[in-house]
Amino acid sequence: MNTRRIDIAAPSGSELSVLFRVNPRAKRLILRVDPKTQSPVVTAPSPRHYKAAEKFVQSKAGWIENQICRQPDVITLEPGIEIPVSGEMHLLTQSGARGRTRQIEGTPPQLDSPGADITYSDRVLRYLKMKAREALNERVDVHAERLAVDPVKITIRDTRSRWGSCSSKGHLNFSWRLILAPPQILDYVAAHEVAHLIEMNHSDDFWALVEKSYGPHKNARNWLKQNGRLLHAYGSSGSAGG
Ligand SMILES: [Zn+2]
Repeated sequence: MNTRRIDIAAPSGSELSVLFRVNPRAKRLILRVDPKTQSPVVTAPSPRHYKAAEKFVQSKAGWIENQICRQPDVITLEPGIEIPVSGEMHLLTQSGARGRTRQIEGTPPQLDSPGADITYSDRVLRYLKMKAREALNERVDVHAERLAVDPVKITIRDTRSRWGSCSSKGHLNFSWRLILAPPQILDYVAAHEVAHLIEMNHSDDFWALVEKSYGPHKNARNWLKQNGRLLHAYGSSGSAGG
């Protein structure tokens, strides 16, 4: 299986993960962004070009980021717009000068953040990242127990090209944007990455683990394919990193 990736830092500070593919017919390193998945892919004539591909991809980080961020347009987090939280549309509001950022039930439900205009989007973003961390911690615990594994550490990031990742040291990384998706989608990504603690590939054995821990996963995968790009529309490119 060819699932090697190259992780690089983009100029804006966000992280990019580039798929490394081998195709003996390629005459040189070729970089492109898959228009359907928005995933950057570098193709090399042989596995020996991995190091060269790393250098090449890093030198093109700005270009990759532009390609990915070009669409859809960024929807900035400001009062009056609606964003999904756990799959449910919430109206962003700013009720006063002080108080905590919080969700308020109602029709429509609100995500309210009192305080200064200038830090509004940062506050909302911080809140969403905190909620993402809470939800992912909880779901990772559930799946880790089901599969009898111990994740070492969970990190919440703003990865542009994937929803989660797992390192050989047992570190799990997740995109904060999963908190925008319905809970069962976040749950699926948690199960997927926990299963990688046992199988670092996408073999049949791997998918059997996902199935064992999460159940049938086809709908969740389709949902991400169809809606994933939309989740990347929220935020502001200047402050979404970290
Ligand atoms: Zn995977």
